[in-house]
Amino acid sequence: MGAGKSTVARALAKRLGYAYLDTGAMYRAIGWKANAAGIECNKENMEKLCENTTLEVTLSEGEQVIIVDGMDITAEIRTPEMSRMSSIVSAYGPVRQYLLKLQREAGSRWAKKYGGVVIEGRDMGTIVFPDARFKFFIDADISERGRRRWKELREKGIDVELTETIQKIEERDSNDKGRSLAPLKKAEDAAEIDTTGLGLDEVVDNICRIIQSSQVKN
Ligand code: C5P
Repeated sequence: MGAGKSTVARALAKRLGYAYLDTGAMYRAIGWKANAAGIECNKENMEKLCENTTLEVTLSEGEQVIIVDGMDITAEIRTPEMSRMSSIVSAYGPVRQYLLKLQREAGSRWAKKYGGVVIEGRDMGTIVFPDARFKFFIDADISERGRRRWKELREKGIDVELTETIQKIEERDSNDKGRSLAPLKKAEDAAEIDTTGLGLDEVVDNICRIIQSSQVKN
């Protein structure tokens, strides 16, 4: 089965010897906190929530760790409910502004510390890092993405139907593409990679080839 965008970004970082920053996990962290606080999602509440949140993103043995208000929630944010919550909170301006700042800080700090950084997220090439050296837009057939996600969830012991998993991905895509702030879209200068039917190594090879050929040209 093919490789999802997080798997690709993580493997690419490993191949290049760079750090890997997963910005979706930061939206999941805010979704987690909103859920734990049991508050209604609206602009005012989201603004207050961000003002009163300390979110730390660190690397431990190459793996990203997410700490909210001193609590490690790295594992808790990987559930279907947190996927749904992250997509809801991500549509609010105060949440995006709060995380944009943290993403830029982490991006520049990690780039210096580790010699480079692969950053994954729906608005990285368009909004957060418009001047990134390389941009890739990773996509795949919805049925393949559904099967991947379903397999990941089953491996974690989460019992879900494949059709339901596909439906939830479609709903989340439609939320992420349809929102007015930083919608999910390809940056004009991003290279598009369709991973349908490709293995992880093939995708990473393709990306590395694009990077090398551009370095040869410059
Ligand atoms: O990538 P992941 O599935 O972990 O992202 C969770 C949610 O966070 C997405 O559905 C999207 O709504 C939001 N997100 C975003 N901008 C990013 C990364 C994630 O809006 N840069």
